[in-house]
Amino acid sequence: MLFDPSHPREKPCGGGITGRALALAEDMVDPRSMDAVAIRSARFMTRAHLDQKRHCRRDVAVPLDGHGLVVSSRNQFDGALLAAAVRAGAVHERARAVDVSVGEDGVTITTTRSRHRADFVIGADGPNSLVRRRVTHVFRRDQLSIATGFFADGVTGDEIVIELVSDPPGYIWSFPRPDHLAIGICAPADSGIPAGSLRRTVAEWTERTGIARGATLRPYSWPIPSLARPDLEALAVAGPRWCLVGDAAGLVDPISREGIFFALASGQWAAESLATGDPTEHYSARVRDEALAELAHAARLQAGFFRPQFTDLIACALAESAAIRRVMADLIAGRQRYATLKWRLLGTLEFGLAWRSLLAAR
Ligand SMILES: Cc1cc2nc3c(=O)[nH]c(=O)nc-3n(C[C@H](O)[C@H](O)[C@H](O)COP(=O)(O)OP(=O)(O)OC[C@H]3O[C@@H](n4cnc5c(N)ncnc54)[C@H](O)[C@@H]3O)c2cc1C
Repeated sequence: MLFDPSHPREKPCGGGITGRALALAEDMVDPRSMDAVAIRSARFMTRAHLDQKRHCRRDVAVPLDGHGLVVSSRNQFDGALLAAAVRAGAVHERARAVDVSVGEDGVTITTTRSRHRADFVIGADGPNSLVRRRVTHVFRRDQLSIATGFFADGVTGDEIVIELVSDPPGYIWSFPRPDHLAIGICAPADSGIPAGSLRRTVAEWTERTGIARGATLRPYSWPIPSLARPDLEALAVAGPRWCLVGDAAGLVDPISREGIFFALASGQWAAESLATGDPTEHYSARVRDEALAELAHAARLQAGFFRPQFTDLIACALAESAAIRRVMADLIAGRQRYATLKWRLLGTLEFGLAWRSLLAAR
């Protein structure tokens, strides 16, 4: 049984689906049958901070191969996944779950329409998960980011645009969907920065870059789990008769905010674990081995990633080095692991030179 009252629906999201995420869904979703946009390049913009002595371009396009990242409407992508689940035998009840209780002898799920008994419940109900609330703790504010921005109707393209910013630490993005741009920014939920102020930052950026001239802007705001390393190391994703997947589990990359891959992957691990005799232990181990190590690496790098020293360095390195542009293209496509990122960057002669000149300039 699958409970969800929302479809068909759009979801506040960039809609960026990496090659590794598409590969997981390839027998369920054909990107050619959706109006997905194959991304040809990623434009990086930075504003000069400390590194005034170096003169390099601050607006650099990183070529992508068109397979590494597609941008889709979540209405179509999620709709295709739902249709595939129903084709495979799932019964879809279009109703909101209003209560879930997990006991020794089974699970009771109460929806706005009916009540069901089950052997096991998978909480796939996003960052405000009801299942999470019933089986463990809701996310604290410091474990969430708030993404805020606009859908710019009537403008599209085949390039994503990213400006790295240090206050709040992160980036402003524009992702082209088939008939609009999804433009936004993200800040820690406990940063004290009101959503209205973040939205003004995005509106000013949109105006300054001229990226959505003539578009109608529709505002949105939505939480994203953003866990620190100790939270990831202590994360409980399953217990007797329950498990959590995707955002409900907290499985989002705290640097790139890629969550679709982890939602698809954890859904698959949950399904495979149910076929074993011990789904709780099996699923917890898969998440620990295949997601948490990578996410913990990202969480450890996150603070340094958006410091002005680093974003200046990256801007110059991207402008000057094809090797660094290739690393960035792989990072965007989900092909570059954080565990080996530092060594691959330092292995490029250009980054080493840039790093040393930055140290020398201080
Ligand atoms: C602004 C923004 C931009 C993002 N950009 C990207 C991006 O470009 N690429 C990327 O990979 N990730 C991105 N993410 C993250 C990504 O959107 C999520 O990680 C992903 O959608 C998680 O999938 P999920 O299935 O776990 O949760 P969701 O997509 O949130 O789905 C949860 C579902 O549960 C249903 N539900 C909730 N409560 C109940 C209930 N009580 N009863 C029944 N049903 C319920 C909802 O209706 C919904 O359909 C972005 C997030 C935001 C906010």
